[in-house]
Amino acid sequence: MGLFSKEIRTMEDLHLHLLQDIYYAEKQILKSLDDMVENATNRKLSAALKSHRTETETQISRLEQAFELLGQKPKGTTCPAIDGILKEAKEILGDVEDKAVLDAALIAASQAVEHYEITRYGTLVAWSKQLGNTAVATLLATTLEEEKEADRKLSALAEQTVNVKAAE
Ligand code: ZN
Ligand code: FE
Ligand code: FE
Ligand code: FE
Repeated sequence: MGLFSKEIRTMEDLHLHLLQDIYYAEKQILKSLDDMVENATNRKLSAALKSHRTETETQISRLEQAFELLGQKPKGTTCPAIDGILKEAKEILGDVEDKAVLDAALIAASQAVEHYEITRYGTLVAWSKQLGNTAVATLLATTLEEEKEADRKLSALAEQTVNVKAAE
Protein backbone atom coordinates (compact mmCIF):
# COMPACT_ATOMS: atom_id res chain seq x y z
CA MET A 1 0.00 0.00 0.00
CA GLY A 2 1.81 3.16 -1.20
CA LEU A 3 1.53 6.75 -0.06
CA PHE A 4 0.62 8.14 -3.47
CA SER A 5 -1.44 5.36 -4.98
CA LYS A 6 -3.76 2.97 -3.21
CA GLU A 7 -3.37 -0.51 -4.61
CA ILE A 8 -7.06 -1.42 -4.59
CA ARG A 9 -8.98 0.89 -6.90
CA THR A 10 -11.67 -1.09 -8.66
CA MET A 11 -14.10 -3.80 -7.61
CA GLU A 12 -11.99 -6.20 -9.71
CA ASP A 13 -8.94 -5.27 -7.60
CA LEU A 14 -10.91 -5.85 -4.44
CA HIS A 15 -12.14 -9.21 -5.70
CA LEU A 16 -8.58 -10.27 -6.57
CA HIS A 17 -7.36 -9.13 -3.14
CA LEU A 18 -9.91 -11.35 -1.42
CA LEU A 19 -8.93 -14.28 -3.60
CA GLN A 20 -5.29 -13.79 -2.57
CA ASP A 21 -6.38 -13.45 1.04
CA ILE A 22 -8.24 -16.80 1.09
CA TYR A 23 -5.43 -18.46 -0.89
CA TYR A 24 -3.02 -17.52 1.88
CA ALA A 25 -5.58 -18.56 4.50
CA GLU A 26 -6.23 -22.02 3.01
CA LYS A 27 -2.51 -22.75 2.99
CA GLN A 28 -2.21 -21.81 6.65
CA ILE A 29 -5.32 -23.86 7.44
CA LEU A 30 -3.80 -26.89 5.72
CA LYS A 31 -0.81 -26.75 8.07
CA SER A 32 -2.92 -26.26 11.14
CA LEU A 33 -5.23 -29.16 10.21
CA ASP A 34 -2.19 -31.43 10.44
CA ASP A 35 -1.68 -30.28 14.03
CA MET A 36 -5.34 -30.78 14.81
CA VAL A 37 -5.46 -34.31 13.37
CA GLU A 38 -2.43 -35.18 15.51
CA ASN A 39 -4.02 -33.80 18.66
CA ALA A 40 -7.50 -35.31 18.28
CA THR A 41 -8.32 -38.37 20.41
CA ASN A 42 -11.87 -39.17 19.30
CA ARG A 43 -11.56 -41.35 16.19
CA LYS A 44 -14.53 -39.84 14.41
CA LEU A 45 -13.09 -36.38 15.04
CA SER A 46 -9.66 -37.20 13.69
CA ALA A 47 -11.28 -38.87 10.66
CA ALA A 48 -13.44 -35.79 10.03
CA LEU A 49 -10.43 -33.47 10.31
CA LYS A 50 -8.40 -35.73 8.05
CA SER A 51 -11.07 -35.77 5.38
CA HIS A 52 -11.41 -32.00 5.57
CA ARG A 53 -7.65 -31.77 5.14
CA THR A 54 -7.99 -33.64 1.85
CA GLU A 55 -10.84 -31.34 0.83
CA THR A 56 -8.65 -28.36 1.66
CA GLU A 57 -6.04 -29.52 -0.86
CA THR A 58 -8.76 -29.59 -3.52
CA GLN A 59 -9.96 -26.15 -2.40
CA ILE A 60 -6.45 -24.77 -2.90
CA SER A 61 -6.38 -26.13 -6.45
CA ARG A 62 -9.83 -24.62 -7.10
CA LEU A 63 -8.40 -21.26 -6.07
CA GLU A 64 -5.52 -21.79 -8.50
CA GLN A 65 -8.09 -22.49 -11.24
CA ALA A 66 -9.93 -19.29 -10.27
CA PHE A 67 -6.70 -17.24 -10.60
CA GLU A 68 -6.19 -18.82 -13.99
CA LEU A 69 -9.73 -18.00 -15.12
CA LEU A 70 -9.03 -14.38 -14.18
CA GLY A 71 -5.74 -14.40 -16.08
CA GLN A 72 -3.78 -14.00 -12.87
CA LYS A 73 -0.90 -15.88 -11.26
CA PRO A 74 -1.83 -17.60 -7.96
CA LYS A 75 -0.49 -15.42 -5.16
CA GLY A 76 -1.24 -15.14 -1.46
CA THR A 77 -1.51 -12.05 0.66
CA THR A 78 -1.19 -12.18 4.44
CA CYS A 79 -4.56 -12.40 6.16
CA PRO A 80 -4.29 -11.18 9.77
CA ALA A 81 -7.76 -12.55 10.51
CA ILE A 82 -6.88 -16.21 9.87
CA ASP A 83 -3.48 -15.76 11.51
CA GLY A 84 -5.32 -14.64 14.66
CA ILE A 85 -7.83 -17.48 14.58
CA LEU A 86 -5.09 -20.09 14.12
CA LYS A 87 -2.88 -18.50 16.76
CA GLU A 88 -5.71 -18.63 19.26
CA ALA A 89 -6.36 -22.28 18.36
CA LYS A 90 -2.72 -23.15 18.98
CA GLU A 91 -2.72 -21.36 22.33
CA ILE A 92 -5.86 -23.03 23.63
CA LEU A 93 -4.69 -26.48 22.52
CA GLY A 94 -1.50 -26.02 24.49
CA ASP A 95 -3.52 -25.09 27.56
CA VAL A 96 -5.92 -28.05 27.71
CA GLU A 97 -4.83 -31.06 29.76
CA ASP A 98 -7.74 -33.52 29.54
CA LYS A 99 -8.00 -35.42 26.21
CA ALA A 100 -11.79 -35.32 26.05
CA VAL A 101 -11.87 -31.61 26.83
CA LEU A 102 -9.14 -31.08 24.25
CA ASP A 103 -11.38 -32.69 21.61
CA ALA A 104 -14.15 -30.20 22.45
CA ALA A 105 -11.62 -27.36 22.18
CA LEU A 106 -10.42 -28.70 18.81
CA ILE A 107 -13.96 -28.67 17.45
CA ALA A 108 -14.55 -25.12 18.67
CA ALA A 109 -11.29 -23.98 17.07
CA SER A 110 -12.02 -25.68 13.76
CA GLN A 111 -15.52 -24.25 13.65
CA ALA A 112 -14.07 -20.75 14.06
CA VAL A 113 -11.98 -21.52 10.96
CA GLU A 114 -14.98 -22.87 9.01
CA HIS A 115 -17.06 -19.80 9.83
CA TYR A 116 -14.24 -17.53 8.71
CA GLU A 117 -14.05 -19.45 5.42
CA ILE A 118 -17.82 -19.33 4.96
CA THR A 119 -17.78 -15.51 5.13
CA ARG A 120 -14.87 -15.30 2.67
CA TYR A 121 -16.29 -17.72 0.10
CA GLY A 122 -19.78 -16.24 0.49
CA THR A 123 -18.42 -12.81 -0.40
CA LEU A 124 -16.25 -14.19 -3.21
CA VAL A 125 -19.21 -15.99 -4.81
CA ALA A 126 -21.36 -12.83 -4.63
CA TRP A 127 -18.61 -10.59 -6.03
CA SER A 128 -17.72 -13.09 -8.78
CA LYS A 129 -21.36 -13.14 -9.90
CA GLN A 130 -21.60 -9.36 -9.75
CA LEU A 131 -18.49 -9.00 -11.90
CA GLY A 132 -19.77 -11.53 -14.44
CA ASN A 133 -17.20 -14.20 -13.53
CA THR A 134 -19.73 -17.03 -13.60
CA ALA A 135 -17.14 -19.81 -13.85
CA VAL A 136 -15.28 -18.50 -10.80
CA ALA A 137 -18.56 -18.18 -8.91
CA THR A 138 -19.49 -21.80 -9.66
CA LEU A 139 -16.04 -23.05 -8.66
CA LEU A 140 -16.04 -21.22 -5.34
CA ALA A 141 -19.67 -22.09 -4.58
CA THR A 142 -18.57 -25.74 -4.51
CA THR A 143 -15.98 -24.90 -1.88
CA LEU A 144 -18.51 -22.82 0.07
CA GLU A 145 -20.78 -25.87 0.29
CA GLU A 146 -17.88 -28.03 1.52
CA GLU A 147 -17.10 -25.52 4.27
CA LYS A 148 -20.75 -25.45 5.35
CA GLU A 149 -20.88 -29.23 5.35
CA ALA A 150 -17.66 -29.46 7.38
CA ASP A 151 -19.18 -27.05 9.91
CA ARG A 152 -22.43 -29.07 10.15
CA LYS A 153 -20.47 -32.30 10.58
CA LEU A 154 -18.44 -30.78 13.43
CA SER A 155 -21.60 -29.50 15.17
CA ALA A 156 -23.19 -32.95 15.00
CA LEU A 157 -20.03 -34.62 16.31
CA ALA A 158 -19.78 -32.14 19.17
CA GLU A 159 -23.41 -32.39 20.23
CA GLN A 160 -23.75 -36.16 19.87
CA THR A 161 -20.41 -37.33 21.27
CA VAL A 162 -17.51 -35.02 21.95
CA ASN A 163 -19.17 -32.44 24.23
CA VAL A 164 -20.95 -35.21 26.12
CA LYS A 165 -17.65 -36.98 26.91
CA ALA A 166 -15.88 -33.71 27.69
CA ALA A 167 -18.52 -32.84 30.30
CA GLU A 168 -18.41 -36.27 32.04
ZN1 ZN B 1 -6.93 -8.88 3.26
FE1 FE C 1 -11.16 -24.37 3.23
FE1 FE D 1 -12.84 -10.48 12.91
FE1 FE E 1 -12.66 -25.50 5.83
